[in-house]
Amino acid sequence: MSETILKIQDISLTYEECPVVTNLSLDVKRGELLCIVGESGSGKSTLLRAVCGDESVQVTEGSIIYEACDIVGMKGAERQKLKGTRIGYIQQNPYGAFNPLRTIEAQFRETLKSHGKTFRRTDLREIFGILELNNSDEILRSRPYELSGGMNQRIAIAASFILRPELLLCDEITSALDVTTAAAVMEELLKLKSENGTTIVIVTHNIGQASNIADRIAIMYQGKIVEFGESEKVLMQPEHEYTKKLLRDVPRL
Ligand code: ADP
Ligand code: MG
Repeated sequence: MSETILKIQDISLTYEECPVVTNLSLDVKRGELLCIVGESGSGKSTLLRAVCGDESVQVTEGSIIYEACDIVGMKGAERQKLKGTRIGYIQQNPYGAFNPLRTIEAQFRETLKSHGKTFRRTDLREIFGILELNNSDEILRSRPYELSGGMNQRIAIAASFILRPELLLCDEITSALDVTTAAAVMEELLKLKSENGTTIVIVTHNIGQASNIADRIAIMYQGKIVEFGESEKVLMQPEHEYTKKLLRDVPRL
């Protein structure tokens, strides 16, 4: 098995004709926790969408190699198979993951079934408890529109944890959560990494958060990676002006 699980080579991404990411390269090592840090609008979500094969994003150049397969050339059905079991994706918009009108239980059942797994209330109770989703029976009977954004976000997190993907992409997943729950989510991510060897990519605008958990940090600015390396190196000896600015703006690491 290669040490690199995901290799993004020289990609350019657009919406319709509008360029968002240009000639970006990035590799993700098996089993690492990589944080991509950048300000709002720098193209972080667009990059993750491209990795998931989201058709709203056009890949106009380059390749996205996941375990020796180029995702860019893949057909819809092939991509669908990769998503969920092998590549998990927790979106920034917590309502985006679910059908607003169907119960959480129905959606859990369907998702697990489509990945060849069985729905068990006891499995759910544990992860729901950790994420402070108390009263899991009531939550399972609810529909997304009846729950808050923060709850939907935690339910989406629970769903992706249960599916145990090899690579988990997390897009600003703690921004709608309070400090305690956010810390619990981060702790669970670290546990997934150490106990299951899950490779994790976290997108965030918060370099302080990245500094606590990342093995490596990539700094993204205006659709490009401007700095990339071991966390300690990026945090202690930043080279790019934008990284230095981000670090100055953090209260105290
Ligand atoms: P980030 O996640 O870093 O905040 P995004 O990837 O969401 O950045 O957005 C990068 C740029 O792409 C922004 O200028 C944004 O307005 C634009 N953009 C994002 N989503 C869409 C979309 N669905 N259609 C057109 N433009 C988009
Ligand atoms: Mg975003």
